[in-house]
Amino acid sequence: MPTHEKILLKNMDQPGYTGSLKDYEAVGGYQALRRVMKELAPADLIDIVKQSGLRGRGGAGFPTGVKWSFIPKDYTGPKYLCCNADESEPGTFKDRQLMERDPHQVLEGIAIACQAIGAETAYIYIRGEFRLGAKILEHAIDEARQARYLGENVLSSGVPIQVYVHAGAGAYICGEETALLESLEGKRGMPRVKPPFPATHGLYQKPTVVNNVETLANLPHIVTRGADWFASIGSPPKSTGTRIFCLSGHVKQPGNYEVPMGITFRELIYEHAGGMRGEKPLKAFIPGGASASFLTEAHLDVKLDFESVAQAGSMLGSGGVTVMEEGTSMVWAALRLMEFFYHESCGKCTPCREGSSWLVQVLQRIVDRRGRMEDLQVLADLCQNIVGRTVCAFGDAEIAPIVGTLQYWRNEYEDLIRESTAISTTSKELPVLALNS
Ligand code: SF4
Repeated sequence: MPTHEKILLKNMDQPGYTGSLKDYEAVGGYQALRRVMKELAPADLIDIVKQSGLRGRGGAGFPTGVKWSFIPKDYTGPKYLCCNADESEPGTFKDRQLMERDPHQVLEGIAIACQAIGAETAYIYIRGEFRLGAKILEHAIDEARQARYLGENVLSSGVPIQVYVHAGAGAYICGEETALLESLEGKRGMPRVKPPFPATHGLYQKPTVVNNVETLANLPHIVTRGADWFASIGSPPKSTGTRIFCLSGHVKQPGNYEVPMGITFRELIYEHAGGMRGEKPLKAFIPGGASASFLTEAHLDVKLDFESVAQAGSMLGSGGVTVMEEGTSMVWAALRLMEFFYHESCGKCTPCREGSSWLVQVLQRIVDRRGRMEDLQVLADLCQNIVGRTVCAFGDAEIAPIVGTLQYWRNEYEDLIRESTAISTTSKELPVLALNS
């Protein structure tokens, strides 16, 4: 197995490391923040992060330093940093580990980002189900305040940085940055129409940056070891650093693996995660959370970087890699994912709200052996009428499982429908439901 240096999971791998402030300081924690407060102007800090090539680890992969630079420089009112800890993408569980096992690494990243954009207040919007993570973060914030890494006068610099934990109520859509902001303001979590963008009209209509937990956790290391060091890792120039990939499904050793970007899916699945359980052949995998299109065994040598996965027709997304073995029904898999998206649609726009319901109904009747061949065209038409016609990217994401399975495993749909035909010729008791039934 190729060796590589871990960055984000390194501390917690050490025997006896508890994630306490004492432990974090012992491995050099908060030295980057000291440097930021004493030596670096915000503009220099933004330049360092730009040069490092760090891109968002939440899903969209937007360059972090560029995002920061959109905050108006001459704005003198309040600005906010929001740490997106709503990790709700199926198959994704890395941020949870970062928050529970090394909370000060995340807090130091938050403080650094606050200094870069001039924010005095940061909110950690944490998924409601992550009660342990929220408790651990609250405790870590108390520790950091007492040590003056956070609070009214950070490291005697005169700069205040306050961090608050805000638990969501368990809605997937609150991982979308504007829905997160709505929820944080106490409203129903529904995405906003953009523009305006959060950089100018974010939390309480003030300039706001929303960054993912893993993105922020990288910052202390970039400040300490330099932009060039970070930019040399992975698959430069566009996919630098490591990523924590969450392996789940039919692999021998599911879990979080931090690897340099640019290794192949084959290396990740067969070398790091131990290969397929039961030695069955791999049939399919989702490369970046449920919103990413399925890939197949033919894509195992695709590199884990933003561009390569996009060229293969999917996306690196949240880093959640779900593996499926030969024998898995791909129509059933598409139905399970579609049920999730139907449940989580916020209902703001019609194509997503109604379309997701119809997609579930059609898929369900195919799986129930009540389908018709024309249902395949109905599925394609429904997907076509959702994509690009919704307020947020959820609409495009929810059709991914269906588009992918129709592309690679259409024969499985047809086989189920043929079984329906066979059943209907022998039984009069299985009516085919109309779409609006
Ligand atoms: Fe809500 Fe779906 Fe519309 Fe996004 S696409 S705003 S989740 S209804």
